[in-house]
Amino acid sequence: MLSFSRILGQERAKKFLKSVMAREKIPHAYLFTGIPGVGKMNMAMAMSAALNCDSPVDGDSCGRCPPCRQMMSGNSPDFVKISLLPDKKNIGIDQIRELNRKLAFAPYGRYRVCVVYQAEIMTEEAANSFLKTLEEPPSGNILILNVREPRDLLPTIVSRCQRVAFQPLTVRDIAEWLVREKDLTEDMAMVLARLSEGSLGRALKMSETDFFEMRQEWLLRLMKLPGLSEEKGFDMALKCGEDANKIGIKRSENGETRIMEILSIWESWYRDLLIMKVGDLTNLLINADFSHKLKKIAGNYKINNLIDSLLVIDQAQRDLRRNRNVRLVVEHAVLSLNRLV
Ligand SMILES: [Zn+2]
Repeated sequence: MLSFSRILGQERAKKFLKSVMAREKIPHAYLFTGIPGVGKMNMAMAMSAALNCDSPVDGDSCGRCPPCRQMMSGNSPDFVKISLLPDKKNIGIDQIRELNRKLAFAPYGRYRVCVVYQAEIMTEEAANSFLKTLEEPPSGNILILNVREPRDLLPTIVSRCQRVAFQPLTVRDIAEWLVREKDLTEDMAMVLARLSEGSLGRALKMSETDFFEMRQEWLLRLMKLPGLSEEKGFDMALKCGEDANKIGIKRSENGETRIMEILSIWESWYRDLLIMKVGDLTNLLINADFSHKLKKIAGNYKINNLIDSLLVIDQAQRDLRRNRNVRLVVEHAVLSLNRLV
């Protein structure tokens, strides 16, 4: 996905960048903001390809000339990506120093595009060093910072960059893309699109794992809760805690732990029950493939209990973010959910 035309959505960002690239003097620094998985890195690559392409068409790269092919092969000397090194918590000063050394040489083609991925995790030292580079950039270099929120960066950095906002993608766009590019059924694509919160990257990662089996397994547990005796509920809590402990610490590729994904699925379940309870609005369901079950089970709940169930899950998510013990958090959540039927 190296051309603008292949990037899903983000029409305003594309239009802005194309207009900027058509200027005689191209601004040298950009701040790409938005949640992960909405096309920021691909846009930076598309920009690099378009700027160095020998025969661009309507401001987009041709995909065939030598610079385009080099870019597609993933080893263009004019595309530099700075990201977190394995086993590190931050982007450090050494990485920015290395970048500065590269910037001192003229680019190989017309422009060198340098992207700092997750710029908000630069150390203070690294950020200050980067700021100096922004103030006096060697010519021929385009600097792009990818962040979720501009307020996570030094204001002095933000003020020197052109801001380009990336929007969450629509459910419809993500679902259609998954059907077209990943051969998913429409039902599966809709479930992933609705759970993805507007992030294609997130939907994509979920589609590549055993997500659906995991979802099935953990939703079945919730479906059993209404009508369980206290004793059986207790057994269920122990079992969930045990399983969560086994999988909970494993991170899936989008950086979330498996158990956080499961809690998102559970959250979507109570959200759906609430929707069925208040108005039988099947078209708004996330778990549309379980609409019959949802309709049946919603009858067992009072609205207040569904709202409280959502709060239980919210609390569990917060506890896990604070690194509380996975087993205890999940056991406690299941016991609370069982009491709320
Ligand atoms: Zn080209």
